Amino acid sequence: MSESTVAPAPKIGFVSLGCPKALTDSELILTQLRAEGYETSKTFAGADLVIVNTCGFIDDAVKESLDTIGEALAENGRVIVTGCLGAKAGHATDNLIREVHPSVLAVTGPHATQEVMDAVHQHVPKPHDPFVDLVPEARGIAGIKLTPKHYAYLKISEGCNHRCSFCIIPSMRGDLVSRPIGDVLGEARALFESGVKELLVISQDTSAYGVDVKYRTGFWDGRPVKTRMLDLVATLGEIAKGYGAWVRLHYVYPYPHVDEVLPLMAEGLILPYLDVPFQHAHPDVLKRMKRPANGEKNMERIARWREVCPEIVIRSTFIAGFPGETEAEFQTLLDFMEEARIDRAGCFAYSPVEGASANALEGAVPDAVREERRARFMAVAERVSAAKLASRVGATMQVLVDSAPAMGRKGGVGRSYADAPEIDGTVRLLPPQKASKTLKVGDFVKARIVAAEGHDLVAMAL
Ligand code: SF4
Repeated sequence: MSESTVAPAPKIGFVSLGCPKALTDSELILTQLRAEGYETSKTFAGADLVIVNTCGFIDDAVKESLDTIGEALAENGRVIVTGCLGAKAGHATDNLIREVHPSVLAVTGPHATQEVMDAVHQHVPKPHDPFVDLVPEARGIAGIKLTPKHYAYLKISEGCNHRCSFCIIPSMRGDLVSRPIGDVLGEARALFESGVKELLVISQDTSAYGVDVKYRTGFWDGRPVKTRMLDLVATLGEIAKGYGAWVRLHYVYPYPHVDEVLPLMAEGLILPYLDVPFQHAHPDVLKRMKRPANGEKNMERIARWREVCPEIVIRSTFIAGFPGETEAEFQTLLDFMEEARIDRAGCFAYSPVEGASANALEGAVPDAVREERRARFMAVAERVSAAKLASRVGATMQVLVDSAPAMGRKGGVGRSYADAPEIDGTVRLLPPQKASKTLKVGDFVKARIVAAEGHDLVAMAL
């Protein structure tokens, strides 16, 4: 038998703007492309050619269409335009698009599948063997996961643009590189398809997502989505909704734009949970730490978050005894903890990391003092946390079951929206009262909270 190599199928980027009618045009074109063996690209840059289906209905739509064509030209260079705007006259000529973007390869009006396909064939010839591409896409884009089947981490970027003085991650992993939003969303959907019920969004700085690519427009399901936190989170929430799954955000810094995701939490699209590594509260210590958003008024920001979404749970980590930390600065941290009532707080006594610039700072705090401050901080944190947990007794919460030996007949362990796996507390589920009631790993159950125990809650599944 002779070996043969199959050339990779050409990739077409597709942006669909406008009303449902334009969308059905897009579906026809995409269906035809797929039938002929073309693949779709999730990025402009990764495509052999980009098709933009435009809308010319109102000024904003015209601007959006022209901007999208401009972005596609800048990032790819080979662009075919179709849709309503393609039929619109310009100021000096009979075609607005050619007037604004003379380098587009072809322009058609709406409902023009064949003309679009002719233009595609002219610039990116049909793949040699279309039958190869009629095979359904592999489902395994989520790859191997080491978490239990019902939750998964979704990494949205690598590296970090910050230079916190106690950290050497940027020197190891480099500057921020955001994953293309289409890839991230595709992976999320594949994970939900595979049974994931909780998606944990992670990175070094989730709030910085897309900064490195200037919030470039990518594709998801044939529509443009900006590579930025709000768009990512909103779309993840929408996808998760279809699967009845949770989306939880980690490593978010208190930048003003983070406020925009709070309404999504209030409306239940994503979990009202934010993991914000504050590290300290005194502005001078934060400056010495070179923390992102160190100039923000964190107390005011938290108060606003709670106004918009009263049920929000905030998790954070802190460092006690950072070089130069005075007793007064540490007291500011304790006061912050009391006032901010951080639901879940961890604290480390400062410990120098080889290669970190903080090692050169003056005013090293003696080991014993660092440890003593850590313990004082944790005493406050535990009091706050215990009071918060006690206030939940009597409430009914949704609990995701993590473990349920013997089908839960002897009870099980789960988590509510307030508990991220591994780092927060758990909800201990009592054995169900009815013999017919079972618990299953990966299921959501409604449970009434009957007691608080340390960092955990005890509940009865309803
Ligand atoms: S600690 Fe600072 S420098 Fe290190 S990864 Fe986090 S934000 Fe980046």
